[in-house]
Amino acid sequence: MTDGVPAAPGIRTWFRSGPEGFVLLAGRCTTCGALSFPPLAFPGCPDPDCEGLEQRPHPLSTTGTLWSYTDARYVPPPPYPRPPDTEFSPYAQPSG
Ligand SMILES: [Zn+2]
Repeated sequence: MTDGVPAAPGIRTWFRSGPEGFVLLAGRCTTCGALSFPPLAFPGCPDPDCEGLEQRPHPLSTTGTLWSYTDARYVPPPPYPRPPDTEFSPYAQPSG
């Protein structure tokens, strides 16, 4: 598997892709194992009872149940990249 790639300039690494496909990366507390997605952008733990300060990337399952989603039909604001001089077209590829 290759190293993660930034979702956008200035955005922490939330996913990686490799021969096995696309994998979302959560942050896993090295003290208690609590997961957060997206990974916390600051030292700490999502569990308020934990004093852990460090997270490591943790690949999430590639299967599951989609409970909810948002269909945003507008151009994402910066810092999300978009090729200049192109017309915006919403895109999603659900599977299963
Ligand atoms: Zn923790």
